[in-house]
Amino acid sequence: MRILLTGPPGSGKGTQAAVLAERLALPAISTGDIFRKSVTEETVLGRQAQVYMARGEYVPDEITNAMIAQRLAESDTGAGFILDGYPRTIGQVAFLDSVLVGHRQKLDVVLALVVDAEELTWRLLRRSHTESRQDDTESVIRRRLDVYTDQTRPILMTYKRRGLLLELDGTGEAAQVTERALAALHK
Ligand code: AMP
Repeated sequence: MRILLTGPPGSGKGTQAAVLAERLALPAISTGDIFRKSVTEETVLGRQAQVYMARGEYVPDEITNAMIAQRLAESDTGAGFILDGYPRTIGQVAFLDSVLVGHRQKLDVVLALVVDAEELTWRLLRRSHTESRQDDTESVIRRRLDVYTDQTRPILMTYKRRGLLLELDGTGEAAQVTERALAALHK
């Protein structure tokens, strides 16, 4: 099964991707996690990504696409995957389409977590006290939410037109959201 997990910052994408990956025995591929690891390891990719991440901007498509192409070429993705936080721009959607054509693969579903803006801001500010993410400060949070609205929300329409979009209530306990997601996927 090939699943895209999408949603605004703070919607619980990362948490759900990790749990669903375990429940469905699929690898979770999170571009945010790959970037953060690269920053910690001070790799070339990390140095390139860091400036954008710190500002709450998206890392340019050329960099992100090259990274994901490499990751999707690894052997553990043969039986499927959960992509967490990619694609996030129209350009990334087109690039992913071409990668999947190259692998003779198709997406099965795009799961979009829905949480309202007020709750998102509250969740992200709360996270800023428990995790030390450099992009969880108030001004950067605001920027990340705006960037999501401008660049990522429009891609949901693309997947809706393709009949792949499944919108899911992302409020409540994480475990409840997981059960909702699994029930929706089984249908
Ligand atoms: P996340 O952990 O998914 O919230 O991602 C954290 C940050 O990593 C984002 O604010 C972006 O700066 C960068 N990032 C993650 N995924 C992407 C992507 N698909 N395209 C561009 N930048 C990304």
